[in-house]
Amino acid sequence: MTIDIASQTQTRIDLVGLERGQLARVLADIGVPERQSKMRVQQLWHWIYHRGVRSFDEMTNISKDLRATLARRCAISRPEVVVHQKSVDGTRKWLLRLAPDAHGQRHEVEMVFIPEEDRGTLCISSQVGCTLNCSFCHTGTQRWVRNLTVAEIIGQVLVAKDALGDWPMLIERHPDPPAAGRFITNVVFMGMGEPLYNPENVFAACRVLADGEGLALSKRRITVSTAGVVPEIPRLGAETGVMLAISLHATTDDVRDELVPLNRKYPIAGLLEACRAYPGLSNAKRITFEYVMLKGVNDSEADARRLVAMLRGIPAKVNLIPFNPWPDSRHACSDWETIERFAEIVNDGGLAAPIRTPRGRDILAACGQLKSESERLAARRRSRRLR
Ligand code: SAH
Repeated sequence: MTIDIASQTQTRIDLVGLERGQLARVLADIGVPERQSKMRVQQLWHWIYHRGVRSFDEMTNISKDLRATLARRCAISRPEVVVHQKSVDGTRKWLLRLAPDAHGQRHEVEMVFIPEEDRGTLCISSQVGCTLNCSFCHTGTQRWVRNLTVAEIIGQVLVAKDALGDWPMLIERHPDPPAAGRFITNVVFMGMGEPLYNPENVFAACRVLADGEGLALSKRRITVSTAGVVPEIPRLGAETGVMLAISLHATTDDVRDELVPLNRKYPIAGLLEACRAYPGLSNAKRITFEYVMLKGVNDSEADARRLVAMLRGIPAKVNLIPFNPWPDSRHACSDWETIERFAEIVNDGGLAAPIRTPRGRDILAACGQLKSESERLAARRRSRRLR
């Protein structure tokens, strides 16, 4: 990615999400001598990703003069929190408002945090809206607006860390610190949007998330989920080495064409071939196949058996997701016995197939329920006008 520094001179340059080389170029541009560059980059990364500071004033190991120049020319941005909800089960959901884009528009995305016994998973968005129109997904009914920038992707994680107090200095003093030493242990690109339709920014964000001096998450704990943008899968592996999840949801092209229209472009066989070739797979590093259980659509015993046969030879696990309903959705969730029988067949076929307990349904934070509040309000206004 190249940053158009010239076009940003009016506004301040956002340092969040810049990779080391890019940050070094920004520093050169504001007059930091070359010989200091490496050290300054390291200091800035430490303050931004390890200490979570939001102002240059707090960067006490940087000279006053440089802090003043940084404050004049640069910024450490965060998306703005519009709504922060907490579910009865502890799941949290944020509605975030992004900074104005080139047209002065301020768009919104949602982000979810799912605490569990041994981990905390932050589910972040990669686009405003989505182009895929999967028939069972609420986000798909929202029009696509734009890709998120690297700063906006990383900014989501920073906002969540602020809200959870998930900074090392705060955790040290926490009365009831998390066993893993941090609240956010995993990041999944399973919020709004198709991450592999925004590959450059998502890959760069993965690198900052995984960097030991960045947000320092293990690559094993970062997962990019795709509906199957096949040509980008090898690049995801080569450029980031993070974990891959595939939203599979069907065992025949006929059914998948209907559920995930992207399948018409990239059918199942080619998708599975890309999965087989994903680098670094082993029993300890498996691809997750997500499978939403839709009553009478994809939940037969024959489907379960086909699923086992299809995935043979791929280090895989299957996540069975009970369908989460949303207003006006045309699908229903499979019966519980059907889901259990399906899981049993897949398990007997040698694949782990946990049934995902839906989390945060009461605040519409569960899989496929994300749709920004602004969009809901706009829809409500439109329907009121029609009446
Ligand atoms: N576009 C990417 C990232 C979104 S991930 C992808 O498709 O993988 C969101 C996950 O939630 C996907 O597996 C999606 O299929 C699933 N999902 C969408 N709507 C759902 C619903 N109503 N109930 C349960 N899961 C759903």
